Amino acid sequence: MTEKKRRRWKKKDPNNERGRVAIRYRGYPTSEQTGKIMRIDGSCRFVKNLAKEQRDLAHRLGVRSPSYTRQSADMKELRDDPELTPWLADAPSQILQQAIRDTDTAYHRFVSGQSWYPTWTRKGSRASFRDPQGVKFRRLSRRWGEVKIQGVDWILVKAHRPLVGSRITSATVVIEPDGKLFISLLCERHKRQPTKPLAEEGTTVGIDRGIAVAIATSDGELINRENWTPKEKERLRRLEKARERKKAARKSENTRARAKGAPTKYKSGKQKDTELAIAALYGRARRRRNDFVEQESYGLAKNHRLSIFEDLHLPAMTRSAKGTVDNPGKRVAQKAGLNRGLLDKALGAILSRTEDKVVCHGHGTLCVPAPGTSITCPECGYTNKANRASRSVFICVACGHKAHADINAAIIIRERGIKLALAGGTPVAALQGNNLDPDSSGAEPEHQGRRGSGNQETGHITVRKLA
Ligand SMILES: [Zn+2]
Repeated sequence: MTEKKRRRWKKKDPNNERGRVAIRYRGYPTSEQTGKIMRIDGSCRFVKNLAKEQRDLAHRLGVRSPSYTRQSADMKELRDDPELTPWLADAPSQILQQAIRDTDTAYHRFVSGQSWYPTWTRKGSRASFRDPQGVKFRRLSRRWGEVKIQGVDWILVKAHRPLVGSRITSATVVIEPDGKLFISLLCERHKRQPTKPLAEEGTTVGIDRGIAVAIATSDGELINRENWTPKEKERLRRLEKARERKKAARKSENTRARAKGAPTKYKSGKQKDTELAIAALYGRARRRRNDFVEQESYGLAKNHRLSIFEDLHLPAMTRSAKGTVDNPGKRVAQKAGLNRGLLDKALGAILSRTEDKVVCHGHGTLCVPAPGTSITCPECGYTNKANRASRSVFICVACGHKAHADINAAIIIRERGIKLALAGGTPVAALQGNNLDPDSSGAEPEHQGRRGSGNQETGHITVRKLA
């Protein structure tokens, strides 16, 4: 390749930047295909755990952790060994490589503070792997289609919505604990040019995420959705109780049997049924939660030139308070309840899915420091804990400004975001080439007061109905 040609290749074309969209289809595999999927999942689990073991060992010995390239080469050697692991050869090597790459990413995410320390991959509840190459889709009829996965061949899927984008980059195959199979197709999509100028009213939005109300926006909207109906909660409570009872009964029975030297019993069919019923309940709640995240993040990404979030450090927030035996934690039960709340509202996913989606609209996201967002007055700037009259009511001690606390926080987040963007604090693609004027962008206090006033008094909560 000549020098001239190479330069042309390297030149970045803003119209040619790519975003990615994931389309998730429910799959209907044959029993033979399910078997193949479970075997590939088993091989991936083996490879992932081996990769983790190598890295943990390196850490304990105080030597440099093996890289992805090293581990990938090790895996190839192992795969070619007919003596040690003959079954590994059945799994497509690219899928196994992807498993190692995922482990690598997990460690990188841990080091950069984005997630917890990578855990062992356990056999049992959930099977999943990613096929990074050669994924194909073909439509059979208006509702049905087929996806080709390496090592499994064509899997029947319900293609309830059209595939978008120009190219499928990868597919993730998941069998959930209740036995349902889903295939997520990651599609490449050209980045669109921004449809709205940033300075236009209503194009920047501040978003406060919380447990009582999942999303509060600076536009005065409170959006929430319950993932469990009261009846489902009751049913779950009963089933979990039954599971514990059966578990305890089997344990004591087996202890007695062992003492006598008699054979011990396996899990009964009834107990397995109970566990499946619990998994089905959790599965339904999880799909509702995901649906909520997808719908809300789509709205945020599509309608706003810049979506501004507060920078929540979720791994630290959801860390268990249990502590150790010598050093027990405080308020363990309360913390566990908070964690359930945080996880049930999927606060991290709302941000990450918005980040994924803005690219397709030529929009952007921005994170601002969280401290003080919930106790600062947007009218006079007075910051004090006493400003929070209750969980949901904000009354400024200095000027008497009254508002819904979450919407108030969203307004502060938006204000901070606009300041940060104007100061060039973070390179935000969405801000380039715009005359972002503080007067017209709504950063002025009088603008702020007007913007959020819609629902502030009533504090009306939009609760999206359960399906
Ligand atoms: Zn005030």
